[in-house]
Amino acid sequence: MKSLSPRLRVIVLIICFGLILPIEVPVAWGQSKSAGSKSRGKTRKKSSSRTTRRGSRSSRKVATTNRPSFDNVISANRAMLTEASEAESASAKIDEGVLRAHVKFLADDLLEGRGPGSRGGMLAAKYIAAQFESLGLEPATADRGYFQQVQMIGSMPDPANKLVVRGGKESEETAEFKFGEEFVGGTDLEQNDIPIIGDIVFVGYGIQSLENKWDDFKGQDLRGKILMIMVNDPPATSSEPNLFGGPALTYYGRWTYKYEQAARIGAAGVLLIHTNESAGYGWSVVRNSWGAERFGLLPDGKTPALRLKAWVTEDVARKIAQMGGYNLDQLRQSAASRNFRPVGLNAKIEMMMKTQVQRMTSPNVVAIYRGIDPTLKNEYVVYSAHWDHLGIRPDQSGDNIYNGAADNATGVAGLLAVAKAYTSLGIKPKRSILFIATTAEEQGLLGAEFYIRNPLVPIAQTAANINLDLMNVHGVTTDITPMGAERSTIGVAIEELAKENQLIISTDAHPEQGFFYRSDHFPFAKAGIPAVNFDPGTKFVGHSDKWAEEQTQDFRRNRYHQPSDEYSPNWNFSGMVQQARLAFQLGLRLANTNEMPQWYKGDEFEGARLKTIGRSQ
Ligand SMILES: [Zn+2]
Repeated sequence: MKSLSPRLRVIVLIICFGLILPIEVPVAWGQSKSAGSKSRGKTRKKSSSRTTRRGSRSSRKVATTNRPSFDNVISANRAMLTEASEAESASAKIDEGVLRAHVKFLADDLLEGRGPGSRGGMLAAKYIAAQFESLGLEPATADRGYFQQVQMIGSMPDPANKLVVRGGKESEETAEFKFGEEFVGGTDLEQNDIPIIGDIVFVGYGIQSLENKWDDFKGQDLRGKILMIMVNDPPATSSEPNLFGGPALTYYGRWTYKYEQAARIGAAGVLLIHTNESAGYGWSVVRNSWGAERFGLLPDGKTPALRLKAWVTEDVARKIAQMGGYNLDQLRQSAASRNFRPVGLNAKIEMMMKTQVQRMTSPNVVAIYRGIDPTLKNEYVVYSAHWDHLGIRPDQSGDNIYNGAADNATGVAGLLAVAKAYTSLGIKPKRSILFIATTAEEQGLLGAEFYIRNPLVPIAQTAANINLDLMNVHGVTTDITPMGAERSTIGVAIEELAKENQLIISTDAHPEQGFFYRSDHFPFAKAGIPAVNFDPGTKFVGHSDKWAEEQTQDFRRNRYHQPSDEYSPNWNFSGMVQQARLAFQLGLRLANTNEMPQWYKGDEFEGARLKTIGRSQ
């Protein structure tokens, strides 16, 4: 079958299955023949055929073995009716050659690690735009361009900065804490010297959550204050085992939430308390990532900003509490309760924070494939994948190019291949498809965050986001891992898809580590858009689970965010083909379903969605 053209292959399949199911075939055949027609009537008919397809599933028998072959996994039970055969034939445009070519180019040394703001980064962005244009996708910006320019600032803290705390009723006691060793800090502001003066208030976990009925601020006016905050979310109790997701980490527990929430209520700054156990890593990790230049979005005047975003060691937090007349352990204990109220310490910060700030601009590459339903074409399914990686480190000897082949030349290749599949559909989808290759993901999801602050299509009309980051280079799997699928009705579509392709759905193995909050789908989720990170499967055909785990560990240890994340001619692209085809089919399904996906009740992002679509909680 491999040697046949995709279209021919579909026809052969239809004929083969037609012999088994003579009743359904005339319908399928008739619709298939009219596939070239793009009239509304035809697409309407298509959706009503869904029930037929589902109903017939049990009667469809495909030869199965314990280890299904690649073609079986991908195309089992397909090509029965128009929609399925359409999807199948367009899916076939996603092949190894396409994916390999994109990855090889994007991960080439010539692109110097695709750092945002660098020449290599621009080469990558222009390459992607050229691909979009050659596929005939519409440019998505208001002035009909493919580049949405993201403005960022990089700020480099002066290592001589000191955190100065004055304690006691008359501020008679002063302590100075050293940058790097005892605290690290940055800012949201585009300013070199920032005076920071403010009373310190301990606000426990610093959380305000409707669905958990939790509010650490209790309506107190905390404008201009410096908030001392614990990381993670409050522990579940025996009476409330699912409080804040039980053992899973919710977004309220992430340090990024703490900063955002503090800014929203008008605080001037934040001191996050680092403990090895709450972070899962030592102080050195905090010091390394905050001691160097950090990037953020250029303040836009409408998004709340913090003057000081700092981390302190546990010892420093203890000292500050004590200077302010309290015991840190007692404070933390009181924070585990709903009745907790902010505690104003008899202590304040007085310091000048010196930083070197510079601007940087780098584009999200954006394009639209227009749907055909008169109403639904104004709604969008978004595919995203970040094109950036860590660039080049001239000060480093040896290979200093961070090629980011797996992370994330693969995701961009997947995105481009999915776009190609859409453009080869005979019948366009009902909803429109927006493709975003984001910049500066490695700097803190900045491209995606910027997009959400400056959306090119209305957030309320954005149906779903499918994100591709780190695709499968190890071969075909018998499962998929759509991270976040269980949170929304996207999961229902995925279940259908998995069933039809004889795949099982694996779930996030480490929900306590909060991976859901660490790639570009997350800013979409936060804005209320149902989202999945379409991760590779974990059960590889012909390999044991142990082997799979070894591949993961090997990548984490020896390649992840290192110059050795390079393209290898030994990569097995068949799994990436499978993954990209499934991502395509999932989006197509979401684009053709009458209802937009919804969060399940009580999910932490449901509130944001209800707000944007104008329904209160
Ligand atoms: Zn990545």
